[in-house]
Amino acid sequence: MQDETNNALPTVEQVFQRPYVISWNLTYRCNLQCEHCYLDAGPSPRVDSEAFADRSELNTDECKKVVDEIASFAPEAVTILTGGEPLLRRDILEIVRYAAAKQLWVVVGTNGVLVTERLARTLKDAGVRGLALSLDSLDPDVHDRFRGVRGAWRNTVNGARVLDEVGLPFIIQTTVGKHNVNQLEEIADFAQQELHAKVWNLYFLVTTGRGVFVSDIAPEEYDQVLEQLHKIQQAQQGKMMVNAKCAPHYVKTVFERDPDSPFLKTYSGGAGGCPAGTHYMGIRPNGDVTPCPYLPVFGGNLKEAHLRDLWESSEPFVRIRQRGSLGGRCGKCEFTPVCGGCRARAYGSTGDYMAEDGLCTHQPGSAPGARERFPTGVEYGKQEVRELEWEPAARERMHAIPAFVRGRVVRSVESSCRERGLDIVTCEELDEIRSRMPANRLFGRGNRGSEN
Ligand code: SF4
Ligand code: SF4
Repeated sequence: MQDETNNALPTVEQVFQRPYVISWNLTYRCNLQCEHCYLDAGPSPRVDSEAFADRSELNTDECKKVVDEIASFAPEAVTILTGGEPLLRRDILEIVRYAAAKQLWVVVGTNGVLVTERLARTLKDAGVRGLALSLDSLDPDVHDRFRGVRGAWRNTVNGARVLDEVGLPFIIQTTVGKHNVNQLEEIADFAQQELHAKVWNLYFLVTTGRGVFVSDIAPEEYDQVLEQLHKIQQAQQGKMMVNAKCAPHYVKTVFERDPDSPFLKTYSGGAGGCPAGTHYMGIRPNGDVTPCPYLPVFGGNLKEAHLRDLWESSEPFVRIRQRGSLGGRCGKCEFTPVCGGCRARAYGSTGDYMAEDGLCTHQPGSAPGARERFPTGVEYGKQEVRELEWEPAARERMHAIPAFVRGRVVRSVESSCRERGLDIVTCEELDEIRSRMPANRLFGRGNRGSEN
């Protein structure tokens, strides 16, 4: 019975029409040498496999063609320009300007080491909406060891402070491991109180790329980390958004702790959990396309094929969406529609991206009520439809939200206003709603309308 239900999950034709986040590794060059790098970037690559053999990079004109492809097929997508270290590309500003001129929502994923005030202002003027910086410890030596370069911690923290000064929003990402597992609460507090990050993402190790050489913590320890993360998420509610990355079974932890948790609202049927190939796409420096940057299986190359065709028809994208065909526990699980397990981790540990995610300890069938708890409709990418009157300033603040999620937010705001008997959406009301949300930075602040 369980399998039959999972086989009825939505397929690409029904819901997965476009990617909403595209992570584009622009270069293998890097000024750090992180132990766990999924791309095996930097001056001393270590992975000797076919999937990492072609280390060529698209030139500027080829990158502009990729931007054209994104703008024509997935204009609502958040486009993350990352690496390696993308700021090492001499044409990074040209690519950003070109993408921004095409109305793409551009974010730069960087280690932050090169961020100066001048560069931050230039990036902002070029149209960058935000940055993502990596910080792994409050102890500079621990961070520097993990990132492979002395002084990396100091430069990254300085970079975050500069971004705060300049008013360019940024998120902090931390990879959990033996080196920092006892320090997570302090890192989150530091990110929020000292650096004023909008979001703190906790990444779980994926053993692809150089990650195969890193020893991981045990699944049972990860369960403890996820429980700890839930406490941090609750403590940071209204101050900073907290998310688990590469651990889609976090939904299980939250559900088991609090089935009515507001954090569960971000999961929607058939599209929740692991977004690889359903909402998410990776692009390698040479133009190869993958369902997720951590997953080295390729749908084709953008020098030879259109992004739309690869998304709609290439083998890994079509196959990965068939959650009813997942192997092991993931194929039988009541959380499959909102979790699905990390496909890259399944690949890293078994060579089959449809296998079960070995990091998860869940036994399918042991969480009654889970399947009924989550809505089956998919909200991402829905059109922005306004039924109430909006104050012009309130309407303007919606532009601080990425296009793919704006329709969903507009609907929630209007529904909240109706419940409160209001027929006009004002900035005051947005502030009130924001104070109740896990992601209170949505809609910006009244005096800094471009933030998110
Ligand atoms: S068994 Fe798989 S689908 Fe179920 S919670 Fe664990 S990782 Fe998610
Ligand atoms: S496979 Fe899914 S859960 Fe794993 S890193 Fe990629 S998007 Fe995240």
